[in-house]
Amino acid sequence: MTAKHPVSVLPGRGVALRRGPSLLLVDADPMRTSATLTELAQLATESLDGVEGSRLRSLTKWLLANEDSSPDFAVISSDRHGGLEVFAYGAATVRVYVTEFATPEVIRGADAGFLVQRSYPSTIFALALTIDAIDPLAGGPIGATGIAPSEIFSLEKGSAPGAGMVLWPSASPSTDSAVYTIPEPPPVATPEPTAGDGVLVGSATAPADATPLVPPTFAVRLDDVPPLPRSARTPLPIVGGPRKPAAFRQGIAEPTLVPPRDVVGPADAALSSAPTDVANRPVSAVNPKVALRDQQLQINGLLCANGHINDPRLPVCTRCGIRIDRMTGALVQGPRPPLGLLVIDDGTTFVVAGDLLIGRDPEPMVASRGGIASVGIGPLDPIRINDTSGSMSRAHCELRLVDWEVRVVDTGSVNGTYVRLPRAPGWITLRRGQEAVLYPGSQLRVGSRSLLFEAPHGRISDVR
Ligand SMILES: [Zn+2]
Repeated sequence: MTAKHPVSVLPGRGVALRRGPSLLLVDADPMRTSATLTELAQLATESLDGVEGSRLRSLTKWLLANEDSSPDFAVISSDRHGGLEVFAYGAATVRVYVTEFATPEVIRGADAGFLVQRSYPSTIFALALTIDAIDPLAGGPIGATGIAPSEIFSLEKGSAPGAGMVLWPSASPSTDSAVYTIPEPPPVATPEPTAGDGVLVGSATAPADATPLVPPTFAVRLDDVPPLPRSARTPLPIVGGPRKPAAFRQGIAEPTLVPPRDVVGPADAALSSAPTDVANRPVSAVNPKVALRDQQLQINGLLCANGHINDPRLPVCTRCGIRIDRMTGALVQGPRPPLGLLVIDDGTTFVVAGDLLIGRDPEPMVASRGGIASVGIGPLDPIRINDTSGSMSRAHCELRLVDWEVRVVDTGSVNGTYVRLPRAPGWITLRRGQEAVLYPGSQLRVGSRSLLFEAPHGRISDVR
């Protein structure tokens, strides 16, 4: 099927853009442009042929670096399964009309701690993007009895002023030379391996059916985070996922990873301020283990012009993105900043600011080690992950921070820990005590669950 679906533009402040495989609605003045808008439009509409969840990753990374300046936006894009991927950020709202008369599912970017991502089959009736808190559809019906696709006023390519867009996947394809195409579903995929047999793919939940209705992704689904005023958002750690079993949600160790109390700024501020908070906390002289746990590891790095300490191997600051001149940059010792993010396949995200022990029951081993990282300074925190396949061990693997590197170490799991490095074709199997360095974009398979290690900027592997 190649369809050129009609797109209606709703009046109001904002810009509607249709380009490549995507629709982008952004809260911006249509008469002004900026580098931020150019970048956002590029990331939202570039063709991505391949990696599952890659638009989510690129948008997430971009937002981590640009949350201060990013306008509110929503995106609809084709995914490689022939489905539709939807993103909402800030004041953007997506309404999903599965059928013409069903009450729409409403997804608000503002309800989430961060970016919301969902996937839908291309057989749904309509998808509406709006920016204003006010519904330009006025809650009214959609389709034949309300707003309906127009054969004349359909955005086929380029941009137009507008505060909303409606995509009509159900409507007859335009016969003109429109650009929006839904790709063919891929040929039958390799059968999903059973858990624990050592062959891994990027999803924990993919049905054996070759064309799943809702393609699984590394989805940052954050829409059940309680709504907060934007200024009071606590950006990280990000916790979400409406389809998560309750037991899993309860078991998450989210509050312990980054002290969220003072963190109200953008994600970058969270990343940079968290360790300072820890460092400034009074160290207890009573309990030496608490003292070791609270102590911030000191590390050598290069300072950027804004005073952020960085891995000396990186050409740009991971916090503010400016170039670091390795000839004139100052080599200093300071508290190590968080080194990245760990995104679990249900969207739960953790800041990698210290060692993490991952498993279905990791707390006893964390307790037996006094909650202290492998280097003897800083915290070891548990990440409890639900796994019904029986292939995940209680303490399965550990992320260890060694200087500027994040390593994964199998801590004696029964079935091994599987690692796929970015751009690598296959998986590495780690057995007890074996370790691998994780570069941003590396995937992990632990039992039947998938995890992604990501970092806001620094691609250390690219500069070697
Ligand atoms: Zn900097």
